[in-house]
Amino acid sequence: MTVCFLVIVAAKAGTNHCPLCHQNHTSGEDGWKNHLMGKDGCKQNPRRLLALNKQPPAG
Ligand SMILES: [Zn+2]
Repeated sequence: MTVCFLVIVAAKAGTNHCPLCHQNHTSGEDGWKNHLMGKDGCKQNPRRLLALNKQPPAG
């Protein structure tokens, strides 16, 4: 007997699901950007860390 268990996470209204870290964040382009590039945003987005670590030239 084979039983497949599918975990279906229903997205809450007004949220988007992040395919990288599998968390929900605010919907809309701003919410998405904030999640991907924000200081406390997606922890699974390597580009976010690059952007945060990029420092302005000294001087
Ligand atoms: Zn994420």
